[in-house]
This record gives sequence, C-alpha cells and structure tokens, in this order.
Amino acid sequence: MKKFEESMYQLIVETSTNLPNDVRRAIAKAKAKENAGTRAALSLSTITENIGMADENVSPICQDTGMPTFEVKVPVGVNQIEMKKAIYAAVERATKDTKLRPNSVDSLTGKNSGNNLGEGTPVIHFEQWEKDVIDVRLILKGGGCENKNIQYSLPAELEGLGRAGRDLDGIRKCIMHSVYQAQGQGCSAGFIGVGIGGDRTTSYSLAKEQLFRTVDDVNENEELQKLEDYVLENANKLGIGTMGFGGEATLLGCKIGAMNRLPASFFVSVAYNCWAYRRLGVILDQETGDIKKWLYKDGEKVDLNKVEQEVAAAEESAGEVREVVLEAPITEEQIRELKVGDVVIINGMMHTGRDAIHHHLMDHDAPIDLNGQVIYHCGPVMMKDDQGEWHVKAAGPTTSIREEPYQGDIMKKFGIRAVIGKGGMGPKTLKALGEHGGVYLNAIGGAAQYYADCIKKVKGVDLLEFGIPEAMWHLEVEGFAAIVTMDSHGNSLHADVDKSSLEKLAQFKEPVFK
Ligand code: SF4
Repeated sequence: MKKFEESMYQLIVETSTNLPNDVRRAIAKAKAKENAGTRAALSLSTITENIGMADENVSPICQDTGMPTFEVKVPVGVNQIEMKKAIYAAVERATKDTKLRPNSVDSLTGKNSGNNLGEGTPVIHFEQWEKDVIDVRLILKGGGCENKNIQYSLPAELEGLGRAGRDLDGIRKCIMHSVYQAQGQGCSAGFIGVGIGGDRTTSYSLAKEQLFRTVDDVNENEELQKLEDYVLENANKLGIGTMGFGGEATLLGCKIGAMNRLPASFFVSVAYNCWAYRRLGVILDQETGDIKKWLYKDGEKVDLNKVEQEVAAAEESAGEVREVVLEAPITEEQIRELKVGDVVIINGMMHTGRDAIHHHLMDHDAPIDLNGQVIYHCGPVMMKDDQGEWHVKAAGPTTSIREEPYQGDIMKKFGIRAVIGKGGMGPKTLKALGEHGGVYLNAIGGAAQYYADCIKKVKGVDLLEFGIPEAMWHLEVEGFAAIVTMDSHGNSLHADVDKSSLEKLAQFKEPVFK
C-alpha cells in the first residue's frame, strides 16, 4: 500500500480542480438553454470560463473547498488505521500546496488548525466489501451550499405549498420547497440529493450519499425516478436562476433515496450542492494502493466555453446593460447613481472581510481607513512564496447573508460605500444602503479563478491571527466585475426573485402523486 497516500493526494487535487464529466454535461445543457445577454447567461458564461481556468491552472475551482468527505470501501483484511493516517497526510499536503483551503476551525475558539485536520475533519467513512479492490470517493462540498441543506419532519406546513402529508405527494412538496428556500444562496444552479426516512442523522447521510450518484443515472425505484424527473422539470419553473438572478436554470440534478423509518418519524432531508459539484472517485489496487481507474470521468468531457447560448427573443432580452467603472475612494454621489442591474467594474483597492472581521469591527477600530472603500466578502486561498510575498490562488465571493446583523452598522461606522459578496443581504442592510448611500454588488459565486485573475497585487494583510480565510487582505484589482443587486434606492433583486418564485411555487400546491 506504498502508493495509497500518493493516490489520495491525486484524488484530492483532481477533485478540487477538475469538474467531473457528468457535471460538465449538466452545466452545458443549462448554458445552452439560457437566453444570451441576460444576467443569468452572463453568470453561466463566467462560471464556464472559471471551470476552464481551474482546469488549466490546476487550481481550486472554488476557493471554498468545503468539508473533505471520503467514502471508502475496503476488502476484508486491509488496514483501515493505516489508510486513515495516509488520508490525513494527503489532506495536509494538499492544503500546503493550496489545492485545499484551510477550513478546519475549532468550534469554540474559532482557531483555524491551518492544515484541514482536527476533531471531525476530514470526514472518513469506511465500509467493508467482498471485492478485491479499494473504492474511494471524495466530495468537496462548500459551506455556502451546506448551509442550504434542509430537513423536514412530516406532516408539515410549507410556505407557498400548504400541508405536506406523510406520503409521496408530501415528499414532493418538501423537495420543491427546498429548492425555493435555497434561492441563489447555495450558488445555483444546483444539484440536490434527497433522503427519505431513517432518523434525523441517517436521513441526512442518505441525502448526501445521493450526491455520489451520477447526474444521468436512472433510479432503480420507478416511483422515485418519476419523482426525480418531476422535480427536475418543475423546479426550473420557479425562475430563481443562476446565482438567484432569475432565469431558466435553477436545478441541474435531483437524486432521491429512501430507507426505512420508525412509525413515529417521517423525515425528508435535502443536501443542496452548488454548481461547483466536486466529487470524484478512484478504484485502487489493494496490494499497492495504485490507481487502476478513475470514476465519474466516463462519457464526453464537454468544452463548456464552446457551448452557444440561445439568442433571446426581443421581449425576453435583458436590454442594454449599463456598465460603470469605480475606483476607491468612492463618493456617495457615485453610489446614488447606481441602480439594480448595473454592472460595476472595480479597479484599484478592495479589502476582504467575512465573519470574524465583521464581528471584530463592531467594537474595534479598523486596521486601515475604510472611508469610501470596498469590502469583499471573500475567504481566499493564499500562498506565500520564498521571498515572503503573498499570492492569491482562488478568490470567489462567500455568502453575504451571514454578515446581515453587522453589515449596515459597519458601513455607517467606517464610511464603506460598496460591499461585494454573493446571495444578497436582508432588509437591515437594504435600509442602511439607503440611509448611508451604499451599494451591494453580487459577484459570481464559485468563480474563484476568474476573480483571482483580476487581483493584480496583494498589498498587505491585517488580522491574520483570525486565519487565512478570515483575515483582512488588501488587494489591488483590475476589471473586477459584479452586478448591482441592492441599491441605495430601496431596490433588491433578491427580494424580487424571492417574491416571484414564492408566487410560482404556489402553482405546485395541488396533489400530483396520489
Ligand atoms: S460555488 Fe458557492 S456554494 Fe459552492 S463552494 Fe463555492 S462559494 Fe460555496
């Protein structure tokens, strides 16, 4: 088993940087269906460009490389303790090589272990089987989409859909609702795995297991296959679209499994995965640990950048998109001129800040003058070279809604004019944008290579004691594009899409499966 550690390292690198072929085909289909020139189409183009860049640079597709979760099947007699040690070593090496972001944080102190090892991380599940090869599968599922997982206990009352009973139709309603509640925050267009039955824990495990099925497989259970087809067709009628900008592509895959339950319990769990659906697998020689075969690489590897989008009918076209170039320090007048739908190109400085920084700034001074500046909700993957210079390896936006309790107050306290993130923010921030003269810009979630390429220089870092993802990085950028989705006039694209998708959800209230 000399080669096992090296094989695990290769599996991690490949999973983080090279999207599986079945996922590529699903994204290609969605891209082809989207009307050219719309916000959703622009987002999909950025996503596909990003996938190509990650491939080429052998760099993480998204900066959030998530909770590495290994599912391992081993022949009887293979030493699982040694395998575990080898997986830990491979995870540590991949983190050092910036293929994984350091993501393991002590839950009580907030301290980042720095190497992705710690209590409960990475996740490794072993199962014995009677074959004479080892099967290892890995999924890297980021926090943004993990936070959109949801569990229902039937019977339940669901917003927009009414009562969901303990039957197939109740399950159908839960799944439709799960897509609605995720909106764009899990970096739609997404994939869902659904677990029916079990207890609270096993139901969620079953849901996650479904994400190891291929996007184009056929469910052996005919009833569940029908339900999968139904959800895939109808969830795309909700109009949530890529990044929650509205549009045709909301859901790219739906896989459902069922297990027995207690008579008193009826759980339906949904594991939501973003478009950056990074899961791969390998079959290994049990004697040497060498890779004999890669999994999820069958079929055509579509060149996503060659996929043409449909030309929009005149009435569906988003119209001319206004493009505005901004460079900090930005004035209140410049901000007040911006409207939802404008594309903003940022040149010059921006500063990262996410959970720890926002919490810190509530009752501390900022390490630099933030007046007129741009804050980027981002936890980048960074590398320090031999000369001590920092380089950005991946830098897409993180989910902004986590900063909702702080954002408005911090913008006012420090004079910040623009905030960039993904998924939008809530009413408290929207009110503050109006009062203070601020704007929320939505960058394309997961487009970590695309945005890393816009960062021309790392000018410095503060509060590095919070860990690499949580520190405040001072970045010089060029041509950094994002879309105004909340402006200083009380408009929020996120609130509009939520409202219209809730109205559309109501059309699925009537029973379909008896
Ligand atoms: S694509 Fe979005 S949800 Fe997925 S890991 Fe990246 S930031 Fe998180």
